[in-house]
Amino acid sequence: MEQVQTRVKEVKSFVDGEYLESSTDAKFDVYNPATQEIIAHVQEAKEEEVDRACRAARKAFEEGPWRTMPLSERCQKLRRMAEIILERKEELARLEAMDVGKPYPVALEKEIPRAANNLKFFADFMEKQGAEVYPMDEDYLNYTRYEPVGVASLITPWNLPFMLTTWKLGPCLAAGNTAVIKPAEVTPLTVSLLGEIAKEAGIPDGVVNVVHGFGPGSAGEYMTTHPDVDLISFTGETATGKSIMKSGADSLKKVSFELGGKAANIIFEDANLDKAIPTSLQAAFMNSGQVCLAGSRILVQRSIFDEFVERFREAAASFKVGDPQDSGTNMGPLVSKEHYEKVTSYLKVAEEEGATLVHGGKRPELPEHLKNGYYLEPTIYIQEDPKARISQEEIFGPVVTLIPFETEEEALEIANDTDYGLNGVVWTDNLQRAHRVSHHVRAGTIWVNCWFVRDLRAPFGGFNQSGVGREGGHHSMEFFTEAKNICIAL
Ligand code: NAD
Repeated sequence: MEQVQTRVKEVKSFVDGEYLESSTDAKFDVYNPATQEIIAHVQEAKEEEVDRACRAARKAFEEGPWRTMPLSERCQKLRRMAEIILERKEELARLEAMDVGKPYPVALEKEIPRAANNLKFFADFMEKQGAEVYPMDEDYLNYTRYEPVGVASLITPWNLPFMLTTWKLGPCLAAGNTAVIKPAEVTPLTVSLLGEIAKEAGIPDGVVNVVHGFGPGSAGEYMTTHPDVDLISFTGETATGKSIMKSGADSLKKVSFELGGKAANIIFEDANLDKAIPTSLQAAFMNSGQVCLAGSRILVQRSIFDEFVERFREAAASFKVGDPQDSGTNMGPLVSKEHYEKVTSYLKVAEEEGATLVHGGKRPELPEHLKNGYYLEPTIYIQEDPKARISQEEIFGPVVTLIPFETEEEALEIANDTDYGLNGVVWTDNLQRAHRVSHHVRAGTIWVNCWFVRDLRAPFGGFNQSGVGREGGHHSMEFFTEAKNICIAL
């Protein structure tokens, strides 16, 4: 096993260029999900501290120099932030693995580099932007400027903390806004360092502030109702998105929401199963299934259903569940006791609904030092009824449902029978079918014969209850800017 840092960290909010001593002694603990050891004490930001953070961000926005400095200089500082993240990537990956319970190599090789790239990508992207020009005969000329909106509240969930926060922070800062960030209370460690990383990169004080706390009656609520905040970019549960929309309504804050999902992963009889099975396994169990894009409803054409079930079960059985700090581990624990209880409550639901358990459904045998962690085997059910709760509700854990179908029409009907619409996956070697099905599945991203492939220029977001707005490339820039038309008489 790799060496793990065991010292308990003291985590504080970062406001106006420095770590803040809280005005109260309110603290909460953060646990290592692998072992349930306390790894951090976090000072909860009270209303007064959140107010200070929002006012610091407002002052930094209005007085500059962040929004007024040459774009090339601003983008250079963002690129420097990305470099610092890469210089500290082992430390950040170790913290992320310890905090979220994800395998260390995944954090080290994928998520932390992607976080750095989020900042670099938007710096490069912003610098290359042109503007719209509309000449009106010889008399007038219109041109468009994209100006920053103001102070952004960036609120993120616990499953991919550093990657998702930088995905918002990149376009927010590149456009010249200032930010108040709140990571999820369950996994705040890596994001708590973003303020100091920004400062080291030369970003002025007050531009990047990080506060810690919970949702209602705590930091999350204060930063979504604060009068100095102009826009809210939120990723998390659909129900939370609805309540944030209400909080921001009185002051008409701009909102962008990336919410929950329950993706259909559709396997047609002509699919290449040698590719579909390992990828579907990742789609089901990566990050212990705690991924909004998880392919958690696997729809399989009846003619290949038995073969698929057997091969998928075998593949899941070889998935190694264990210590996230071990390099051979495929899947770590669930993030917390509370979440474990939510996920495992669905095992009872599945049983009551008459689903057939194909694999898993219990805690795996694990070494002594992991005895307190909340582990669950990759769990697979067959459920013929697409309306069953386990086929409809976002379980957000390593629990998937296999649903047989006969025809393409039936597959589409099942795929679209959901309140969500974040993404879908289609496996077929028939080109026409691939296009046809992709056009008819009502979701923001469709992957054909692949999963989780991301071009940061492409739109990302959800249909239905999976979100409001889009992130990625110019879609992010549109959210973080106000377009201004200037019309000049010639
Ligand atoms: P959550 O909604 O419980 O919490 C997300 C964040 O919102 C946390 O920081 C939390 O403290 C804060 N919060 C909670 N209530 C709030 C309130 N009333 N006002 C302001 N802030 C509040 O979500 P979670 O459990 O951390 O994350 C899991 C969810 O996130 C799943 O539904 C998953 O699908 C979704 N998710 C979506 C995407 C996407 O891109 N669409 C990506 C990752 C996760």
